[in-house]
Amino acid sequence: NHQFRLAARPVGLPKREDWSYTEEPVREPADGELLVKVLYLSLDPAMRGWMNEGKSYIPPVGLGEVMRAGGVGKVVSSKHPGFKAGDFVMGTFGVQEYALSNGKGVVQVDPRIAPLPVYLGTLGMPGFTAYFGLLDIGQPKAGETVVVSGAAGAVGTVVGQIAKLKGCRVVGIAGGPDKCRFIVEELGFDAAIDYKSDDVKKALRTHCPKGVDVYFDNVGGDILDAVLTQINLRARIIICGAISQYNATGPAKGPSNYMSLLVNRASMTGMIVFDYADRYPEAAREMAGWLTAGKLKSREDIAQGFQTFPETFLKLFKGENTGKLVLEVAKD
Ligand code: NDP
Repeated sequence: NHQFRLAARPVGLPKREDWSYTEEPVREPADGELLVKVLYLSLDPAMRGWMNEGKSYIPPVGLGEVMRAGGVGKVVSSKHPGFKAGDFVMGTFGVQEYALSNGKGVVQVDPRIAPLPVYLGTLGMPGFTAYFGLLDIGQPKAGETVVVSGAAGAVGTVVGQIAKLKGCRVVGIAGGPDKCRFIVEELGFDAAIDYKSDDVKKALRTHCPKGVDVYFDNVGGDILDAVLTQINLRARIIICGAISQYNATGPAKGPSNYMSLLVNRASMTGMIVFDYADRYPEAAREMAGWLTAGKLKSREDIAQGFQTFPETFLKLFKGENTGKLVLEVAKD
């Protein structure tokens, strides 16, 4: 069983040396345990935060521990009453080829409903983030304008499509012409802003002629600041992530245009998807329905090779992924 274990707390962008590559024998499950062969790993921006010391919404990964990551895999053997060999499961299996689990937080997934990587994206944590963040906190109403950043990523692609399903005007902010074309032409967004070449504030004025009612923020920093200048009365801003700040070596850059919240009686609300765990089945049901009906498209970006984990993970911070970044560890 090969593993990537956290070896050092990274400064700035993580490097390969921040993990150690280890090998240990696979042990048979004890009573109440199951052994999972990991097939796909979810690579998430949040993993960068878990590498830091300090208080957050979950404890950091300890030095020497297997790097935390979600994954889907196949049960190899089980002494747990809820699982049997051959079951496909999703859980926090870590960056390793085989995982022993006590079954806590492990759920069955059905490859007949959707390909396995989809359970790490649209039908998994990022999809649920989009669903609850947009609908619960954003409360979008038909005819309103919704702006989402990180728009071509795992969360952003789903946010924009759900907002379209709810009858909103949807404007996505993403890096580069290919991603902008993708969200408009393939996903049906009304407009896209390429933050790498456009003046974001000016482009928002053009594409959001009625202002911004809901802003789903995945990136923070300057883009958040630009959107704040364009919000409407009682706008809702969902602080989902701030990837532009995750590798900052100094303090994170906060918005300077925050007085716009005061002027517009607007709200800016942080959300963590784990708070909605008891409602995941509701989101999974509704989104699986949309997928099957062809109303929602799921995009996965699948990289190969367990050993490439450190470099593949960095794609998130370089904007080299479109849709959900997944690492294929093994074939079924
Ligand atoms: P994505 O699939 O969106 O991948 C990350 C993308 O971020 C990149 O492709 C890149 O796209 C963009 N990006 C990277 N660096 C920058 C930068 N400096 N400025 C602007 N954009 C940048 O990842 P996810 O969909 O998995 O996650 C999106 C966000 O949601 C993250 O902030 C993540 O932490 C957050 N999140 C929060 C959750 C919660 O519970 N609150 C749960 C899940 C995710 P581009 O080419 O467009 O720059």
